[in-house]
Amino acid sequence: MDAQELTFTPAVGDHAFTPQQRRLLALAHELGRDKFAARAAQWDEEASFPFANYEDLRAAGLLGICVPQAHGGLGADYPTYMMVAAELGRFCGATALTWNMHVSSTMWTGVLAEGIPMTETQRAEHAARSKLHFRRVVEQGAIYAQPFSEGSAAAAGRAPFGTTARKVEGGWLVNGRKIFASLSGAADYYGVLCTEDKGDEKPDARDTLYLAVPGTSPGFAITGDWNPLGMRGTVSRNLAFKDVFVSDDEQLMPRGVYWKGAQAWPAMFFTLAPTYLGIANAAYDFTVQYLRGEVPGEPPVKRRMYPTKQVAVAQMRIQLEQMRSIFLRAVLEARPNPSKDERMRLYAAQYTVMEGANDIARLAIRTCGGQSMMKHLPLERLYRDSRCGALMLPWTAELVLDRMGREALYEAGEKDE
Ligand SMILES: Cc1cc2nc3c(=O)[nH]c(=O)nc-3n(C[C@H](O)[C@H](O)[C@H](O)COP(=O)(O)OP(=O)(O)OC[C@H]3O[C@@H](n4cnc5c(N)ncnc54)[C@H](O)[C@@H]3O)c2cc1C
Repeated sequence: MDAQELTFTPAVGDHAFTPQQRRLLALAHELGRDKFAARAAQWDEEASFPFANYEDLRAAGLLGICVPQAHGGLGADYPTYMMVAAELGRFCGATALTWNMHVSSTMWTGVLAEGIPMTETQRAEHAARSKLHFRRVVEQGAIYAQPFSEGSAAAAGRAPFGTTARKVEGGWLVNGRKIFASLSGAADYYGVLCTEDKGDEKPDARDTLYLAVPGTSPGFAITGDWNPLGMRGTVSRNLAFKDVFVSDDEQLMPRGVYWKGAQAWPAMFFTLAPTYLGIANAAYDFTVQYLRGEVPGEPPVKRRMYPTKQVAVAQMRIQLEQMRSIFLRAVLEARPNPSKDERMRLYAAQYTVMEGANDIARLAIRTCGGQSMMKHLPLERLYRDSRCGALMLPWTAELVLDRMGREALYEAGEKDE
């Protein structure tokens, strides 16, 4: 594949992409356009997992996009992953969102771990264990899920996780439950966040453990239905853990390091956004095609000559350009221990993309009109999928406003008398 030129405008917009970024963007675009777009309606209709897309991602090496090259992966860095994820989101939101859960497991343990403070012993331990996980992804095509949410304040970062792990000989005993575990039933490993159970001591978020629970473990169960409004192909059911034994090697990070990582790398919580930037692009692209009377299989009725529709498309494009700009700025400046301004921009980018995606999808339906929201067209699915972005913890739209307002008015440690 020619790494020099792109024949399309990527979902993130134009940019001086590196050769690797151009290559991966072209790969994602082709896979999405030629394979994922046509299948998206089926996963949505059935609320079933996009297994066929994962076969394609596996064959293309994209399950290992963030696995370091030294371990056989593609070695993409944070901005490259974020750009490619937006491109996939354009064609199938559920695939992009679940792929994010999988890739994040390799990003936390790989490129991001380098920026997290660890002792020499912890770093050596981490190097040995992460090798095992990378090998599983690269050689066996293993899929990792990222079940953090519990329906408590924990996933919002306001309380320790209620799921616990107690140290036993050779490993850990995990107990508890998770909700909204995307990839449930499809993942080989579930990257669970839990609190170390230290007996009598009060649970403390600093004792968060990040463990990979094999899906075949005795005591592990997937429960509950899955019939949501949107992102139906994520199959995000509940997980239950009853005295699940997990060996020491399944620690995705050394004891106490996840908590430090979450403090050091806020950009990690921005990785859900590219999916929704992709969805916003898809809604905009569809609107232009529809108003021009060029949607394949539809009567060639043009609606572009009405000034009100032209104004609406202009509004959509302005919002899309705003989303792309702040998104690109945020991903390019992402680093450990960002400045206050960089952190505020990250929050602003998250809010802009998550709320903006639904705004654009809403305008698309209003502008294209009643016939555009029929089930055989993608727009109504994009509308439903776009609604889910602002609900994702820890950075829901509400919590971002909450953080921004507080952090704008109070410096660290400041209190009112
Ligand atoms: C399609 C989809 C896929 C998902 N996949 C995953 C996944 O793979 N892994 C995973 O871990 N989670 C996943 N989630 C879950 C998601 O991140 C949230 O945990 C979930 O949407 C929260 O739902 P809830 O009803 O428990 O919200 P609640 O926690 O009850 O929150 C409701 C709202 O209240 C606000 N709120 C919450 N806590 C606070 C607080 N302390 N202070 C102030 N306001 C607060 C927030 O704005 C929130 O939106 C997924 C969600 C969706 C919709």
